[in-house]
Amino acid sequence: MDCIFCKIVSGEASIHSLYQDEQVIAFRDITPQAPVHFLVIPREHVESLAHTARKHSPLLGHMLAIAADLAAKEGLSEGFRTVINAGEQGGQTVQHLHIHVLGGRAMGWPPG
Ligand code: 5GP
Ligand code: ZN
Repeated sequence: MDCIFCKIVSGEASIHSLYQDEQVIAFRDITPQAPVHFLVIPREHVESLAHTARKHSPLLGHMLAIAADLAAKEGLSEGFRTVINAGEQGGQTVQHLHIHVLGGRAMGWPPG
């Protein structure tokens, strides 16, 4: 399977890592859309949020908790945005579940 995020998990592709544990990896986005922009991904290949089931609830909860923890560590005390794109119309370009965390500037709504 040709998945760039699985290559990051296996160490084949390099990243600026912020956090790793047995379930997830967090790293800076290669094309940041805000002064702070990082991703939290599961080590397990899950295609998207639309491909999760009840059994993924602990993993999803953990991913969000890590996102919030790292947002605080990155100094985003004024706020931040979390985004999970799913599927073509959702704007997902990498078919491996990930949470975006963006901050360091005011985020407009709706997003462009
Ligand atoms: P999506 O559009 O699927 O929600 O987001 C995918 C994100 O992954 C994009 O923001 C893109 O910049 C980021 N990305 C894609 N390939 C790489 C990579 O090889 N390394 C890093 N650090 N980020 C990547
Ligand atoms: Zn993958």
